[in-house]
Amino acid sequence: MSEDKAVKRGTLFVYSGCSGVGKGTIMKELLARNKKIKLSVSATTRDPRPGETNGVEYFFVTHDEFNSMIEEDGFLEHEEFCGNYYGTPRKAVEEMLDNGYNVFLEIEVKGGVSVINRHPECVSIFILPPTLEELEHRLRSRGTETEEDVTKRLQTAIDELKIAPFYKYQVVNADLESAIAEVLDIVSKETAD
Ligand code: 5GP
Repeated sequence: MSEDKAVKRGTLFVYSGCSGVGKGTIMKELLARNKKIKLSVSATTRDPRPGETNGVEYFFVTHDEFNSMIEEDGFLEHEEFCGNYYGTPRKAVEEMLDNGYNVFLEIEVKGGVSVINRHPECVSIFILPPTLEELEHRLRSRGTETEEDVTKRLQTAIDELKIAPFYKYQVVNADLESAIAEVLDIVSKETAD
């Protein structure tokens, strides 16, 4: 078997949606059902939530470490969100794309829009809640944020929804299975995999 068979470069996906919309749950299923999809693991200065592991959900770093990564041009994009900093490590994403994987950046909208503008070839998907009331309910029942954080994330969600039309695809997460199927269809259509 030839070792140097050229690998077709993967496709970059920008994947956003308001906090609490269920994008993490959808993402887990995408990874389980399509082995050519990889999720970029971001660096963040936020504290880990119970059950989160360094290097799995995020690389949990100090502000100093985050600033060093900025200085080294180590991020594809980075943003502040609700008082914490988040960034997409550039090298890991490039390597996964080079190895033929379709790479999802699960990032908030400011970072999303900057990647869409700088990488017009990327495919952008925005996950929408069925209603704002439902989003509030999901955020509260998750129970991982303080009341102050929930209020901040809801206000941010209202602002983020205004950016949704800027994304190529909008998927409403009213029913989890339908939303997963819809995103998988988009991946097949855009990558011909
Ligand atoms: P959370 O604190 O709920 O894990 O994430 C808060 C928001 O930051 C979410 O919308 C999440 O998608 C986004 N986020 C996670 N990693 C990154 C990143 O590397 N860059 C940007 N711009 N946003 C990120």
